[in-house]
Amino acid sequence: MIFKDLLNEDLASQIDSETAGLGIQDTLRTLSSRFQGEIAFSTSFGQEDQVIADMIFTPDLPILVFTLDTGRHFEETYKVMNQTLAKYNKKIKVCFPDKDQVEKLMTQKGPFSFYESVENRRECCHIRKVEPMQKILSQVSCWITGLRASQSDARRTLKRFSYDAANQVIKYNPLIEWSIDQVKDYLKLNHVPYNVLHDRGFLSIGCAPCTRAVAEGEDIRAGRWWWENNKSKECGLHQNDQE
Ligand code: SF4
Repeated sequence: MIFKDLLNEDLASQIDSETAGLGIQDTLRTLSSRFQGEIAFSTSFGQEDQVIADMIFTPDLPILVFTLDTGRHFEETYKVMNQTLAKYNKKIKVCFPDKDQVEKLMTQKGPFSFYESVENRRECCHIRKVEPMQKILSQVSCWITGLRASQSDARRTLKRFSYDAANQVIKYNPLIEWSIDQVKDYLKLNHVPYNVLHDRGFLSIGCAPCTRAVAEGEDIRAGRWWWENNKSKECGLHQNDQE
C-alpha cells in the first residue's frame, strides 16, 4: 500500500481545499490521478450511486466500481445492475460475503433472524456487508460514496471529504449537497438507468427483507429496518458518519 500511512484528516481537508473550485467530474479525475489504482466507488445501484457511476463510466475514469452482493437483494436491483453493465460496457466488481459465515448464520438462526433483535440484525449486516466492505477498503486509499446530507439526520453533518479512520481511507461524498430533485434531474437528463423501486416509494434501497416503501413526507431512511427505532438505523458501513 503506497498511500495508507499518509492518510489523515489533515490530508482530507487539504484535498477539500485543493478541489474546492472543481466540479464533481474534475474532482474525480484529480483523485483518480492522485490515488492511482487505490481509488474505489461503492455502488448499491440506488439513484445517487447511478449519478456517480455515470460520471465515472462516461469519461472512463480509472476508478474501481464495486458492489456488495449480500445475497438478499431485490430482483429490481439486479435489473438496474444489468442495465448499467449494458449501457456503459464497463466492469463492476462484485463482492460476496464469506460463505462459511453465511452458512453458519443461516444454519443456526434461519433466514430472518434480523427481525428478532438489533443484535441479530447487526450480525447479519456485519457478515453480509461490513466485512466484505472492510476487505475491499483495506486495498484502497480513497473511497467514493453516494451519501447525501439530506438523506437522514445522522448524515446532516457529513463533509465532502473526511478521513475514515476505521477503514483508513479518504472518503469523498460528491453528492453531499445535492437534493433528491437534483439527483432525479441528472438521471433523466443523462438517460441513466435507475431502480424502478424508486418510483414505487422506495427512496433508499437495501436488502429486500429489510426495505419497504415510505409514505409521502416520511424520512428517506424510514423504509430501512422499519421495525427498529431511528437511532439504530445504520448497517455499520458508514460508522464515522454517525458520530
Ligand atoms: S440489510 Fe437485512 S438482509 Fe441485508 S445484511 Fe442487513 S440485516 Fe442482513
